[in-house]
Amino acid sequence: MKFVDEASIRVKSGDGGSGCVSFRREKYVPKGGPDGGDGGKGGDVVFVADPSIQTLLDFRYQRHFKAHRGEHGRGKDQTGRSGEDCLILVPVGSVIYDESENLLHDFKKPGERFLFLTGGRGGKGNAHFATAVHRTPRFSQPGEAGSEAWVRIELKLMADVGIVGKPNAGKSTLISRLSAAKPKIADYPFTTLEPKLGVVTAQDSDPFVVAEVPGLIEDAHLGVGLGLKFLRHLERTSLLLHLIDLSDPEAEDPWVPYQSVRNELREYGRSLNLKPEIVVFNKIDVPEARNRLPEAQKRYNREGVSPVAVSASTGEGIDDLKILLARKLNKHED
Ligand code: GDP
Ligand code: MG
Repeated sequence: MKFVDEASIRVKSGDGGSGCVSFRREKYVPKGGPDGGDGGKGGDVVFVADPSIQTLLDFRYQRHFKAHRGEHGRGKDQTGRSGEDCLILVPVGSVIYDESENLLHDFKKPGERFLFLTGGRGGKGNAHFATAVHRTPRFSQPGEAGSEAWVRIELKLMADVGIVGKPNAGKSTLISRLSAAKPKIADYPFTTLEPKLGVVTAQDSDPFVVAEVPGLIEDAHLGVGLGLKFLRHLERTSLLLHLIDLSDPEAEDPWVPYQSVRNELREYGRSLNLKPEIVVFNKIDVPEARNRLPEAQKRYNREGVSPVAVSASTGEGIDDLKILLARKLNKHED
């Protein structure tokens, strides 16, 4: 299963500081020798793999990264200070490419560093250019410009939560509600039926990935249609979110749609049905659904299941659901 989170960023290394033109001023000496110092080197652009980062979410908010320029040289042979490097922190597992899709680096270990763009070198001050015949050079060297580039960062993600449910239960809607970013799916050749993904950030917890497993059709476990592939896709998630459309007028007994999806999971085998699961009633903004809610809760409680209720449309209950998911994934720092 390969979900790819992606970001493109613009990076620039620092310009070198210019060399200085200056002459020594000494008492009683009408014309001192040249003492213009060199410019400082511009900062480098360095990528660093940071184990405390899990996603590329931050790159949605910051796309431009610039190292500092070197200071210009000064008189009295003072060299300008070097510009500060620009450190770009990426998750372990990130792979970066240049504009022409050449692989630049594959970050495998925490703390791994990759020097991408070197800052411009500082220009030489006029002190460097004095010769026996040319004692008072009135020129210095400009600093070298830094360089700029686009970099594409790619990160393979694993889904933590698989959302299952009947077609139209509201799985896609729920994902858009829950998520702050939408990675793209690399390995699925399907266009219309591909599982949808989202990266969820809950308060005080690490971001996690939710994946929709679309239209669990009857007999999916028999390999009919695309169901089997999607079921396989569920195997590696650590938690299932079972979504129930509580407004569904056809489900007179709200336990029935739940059971039919559970049957699918059981028939498929591979212990899918044994995965931890939370049950979520959706569409409680619909009056019929809200009216049914107390009964439905009771019905499920009788079976030993305690669903939570949300509206993927209005966002009601979504914040609590995020926190619940984060807790269940043991990523919540309590
Ligand atoms: P999926 O097949 O499970 O992915 O379901 P979708 O997310 O595509 O939703 C199916 C339909 O239900 C769409 O028309 C949604 O707008 C609608 N829907 C989803 N969630 C809600 C909800 O909380 N309230 C209401 N009223 N409609 C919803
Ligand atoms: Mg859908």
